[in-house]
Amino acid sequence: MGPPGAGKGTQAKLLEEHFKVRHISSGDLLRAAVKKKTPLGVQAQCYMERGELVPDDVLLGTIEERLRQDDARVGFILDGFPRTLPQADALCTLLQAMDTRVDDVTSIEVPREELVKRLGGRRTCRECGTMYHVDFNPPRTPGRCDECNGELYQRDDDKEDTILARLEVYDRQTAPVLNKYRAHGLLREVAGLGTREQVFERILAQVQKH
Ligand code: AMP
Repeated sequence: MGPPGAGKGTQAKLLEEHFKVRHISSGDLLRAAVKKKTPLGVQAQCYMERGELVPDDVLLGTIEERLRQDDARVGFILDGFPRTLPQADALCTLLQAMDTRVDDVTSIEVPREELVKRLGGRRTCRECGTMYHVDFNPPRTPGRCDECNGELYQRDDDKEDTILARLEVYDRQTAPVLNKYRAHGLLREVAGLGTREQVFERILAQVQKH
């Protein structure tokens, strides 16, 4: 968990490599659907461009389908889901039906001014989704992905007005989900400033303690 720009995707990928369990990002699933113009993608696109949450009835079936795939059997790291209380309840019901549960919830905490700086400079590879920052983590060749040479672009929802809308949505709709997990004793809050390796060490220390 964590607001947009906190580094959830980056850290989830590092956790995926470390624990050998799949990183499942609701944002990546939605962007892939938009790119392929599936019915989900067509419905989701306008919400995403405005920085609003995609309605639960559109998203939940896709999440369930993904979590039921074979590669998720040994576990998974969810990134960007759940983002609302109804999503958290739906996840709990689904995991019960699959005879599993949420073991651990990590929230990456980053001050607001830093989030705006990070998101405004973020560039994403159109092909593989790898993220860069024009100042803090530039690609070797400007405009091209180091991994696959794909074109880098600025996501519509990383433009300034939309960034502010997304942060507001986080405070209003997602912060209550944190309170829920805190009340259940599952939440670990980790400082998200510093290098990605430093943040990863903090997350790992928390997860391993638990
Ligand atoms: P992200 O890549 O996680 O920042 O997600 C990008 C956008 O996808 C969000 O601004 C939402 O429009 C949509 N989205 C991702 N995850 C969810 C979710 N759990 N519920 C609703 N909308 C979501």
